[in-house]
Amino acid sequence: AASAEPNPSAPSSGLDIPTPTSIEVLIRVRPLLSHESDEDTRNASSCISTLADNRTISINHPSKQLQCEYDWSFPQSSSQEEIYDKVNSCVNSFTNGFNATIFAYGQTGSGKTHTMFGPEGYAVQRSTYGGPNHAILNANAGVIPRSIVQIFKNLHRKDLGIVNVTAYVSFVQVYNEQLFDMLRDPRRSSSLEIHEEPGQGIYVSGLSEYAVRNAGDCLALVKLGEENRAIRETHMNTASSRSHSLFQIIVEQTRIEDGAEGERVLKSKFNLVDLAGSEKWDTRKERKFNNDQISELTNINLSLYTLGRCIAALAKNGKALEKDPDAIPVHVPYRESKLTRLLQDSLGGNSKTVLIATLSPASDCLEESVSTLRFADRAHSVMTFVKLNEKRPVDHALVQRLQSEVARLRALLR
Ligand code: ADP
Ligand code: MG
Repeated sequence: AASAEPNPSAPSSGLDIPTPTSIEVLIRVRPLLSHESDEDTRNASSCISTLADNRTISINHPSKQLQCEYDWSFPQSSSQEEIYDKVNSCVNSFTNGFNATIFAYGQTGSGKTHTMFGPEGYAVQRSTYGGPNHAILNANAGVIPRSIVQIFKNLHRKDLGIVNVTAYVSFVQVYNEQLFDMLRDPRRSSSLEIHEEPGQGIYVSGLSEYAVRNAGDCLALVKLGEENRAIRETHMNTASSRSHSLFQIIVEQTRIEDGAEGERVLKSKFNLVDLAGSEKWDTRKERKFNNDQISELTNINLSLYTLGRCIAALAKNGKALEKDPDAIPVHVPYRESKLTRLLQDSLGGNSKTVLIATLSPASDCLEESVSTLRFADRAHSVMTFVKLNEKRPVDHALVQRLQSEVARLRALLR
């Protein structure tokens, strides 16, 4: 059961109590594409529908009947704006100092990139920027450009007491268990390594981070990343359907709130993830591949396979925790793939997380669609532990008291 999110505007209690929160699971069924409905009728029949309660997905096929309930199920006719409306609260949590993650999971061709970025990968054109704080988006813009616009709207609000704000962006691709900086020309950059530092958590060393002042800056970086991805695809022979991409925004803000003493410093991270296609690889076809291609396929399987195992372990822990708050959690194999290491916080740590699972309605995708729904079902039992990321201001009176205590103890020792 999802608990209420901690209230970001409530006065700081002095205690950072993490609130257990379920991963929110949204399902989106895309429409049949024109070439699919032109083909033979076997593909053209769509066998997946959503019920009027907006929660239940129903599969109706001679070989399979199934109904499952999620937090929200979007019918084929849903617009990009309707999808965004359901994740807007997550975006607002982020600008209020909470970590947040939105990730898209599903088979290749089911609409992950369309949902996250927009058609053809980007719905952002330079000509659509209407000034630094008013990026005008195409109606087909996906979750990422829409989130960016909302983030800067929030950060420019006059009533929040924000006196200082810095935002920076990075964009990384995981391909074949290697990390690539999407904001650098792929012809002049090589793969990067993940590191972990106490206090700093997990980070990618050497990854470019760009400071952004407004939505226009940020959208330009999305576009740059998309262009570099296209270059990687032509020059390095990578396939976007086999890579994961992570667009990250970090915001650090200082607020002086009405009636409150002193300032509050909040630092939060927002991960927007477009995963590689979740489909199983046909081993009969794999035999025709060379060693590089097989290693690539195995690694893609490794990352998604590990993601599946992490979700399963976390779901198990979530269910055990509901029954017994002292239950000992099972091991979660985050370290076994690059993707899960990068997403560790988003999956089982301090992050408000939304999963958008995308489905093709076509009958010949049924098996993969059922497997996506199973993944989504498990993800729904996963709990994250959300808390406000507030840097404590220094309490000078306390420091003085502790210093005199240290002096007293030293004197005693002598
Ligand atoms: P994925 O990233 O999951 O491989 P894409 O987002 O590239 O899939 O979508 C595959 C194709 O389907 C694209 O041509 C895309 O424009 C189209 N498509 C996906 N979702 C929708 C949708 N909701 N409405 C219309 N077309 C869609
Ligand atoms: Mg895609």
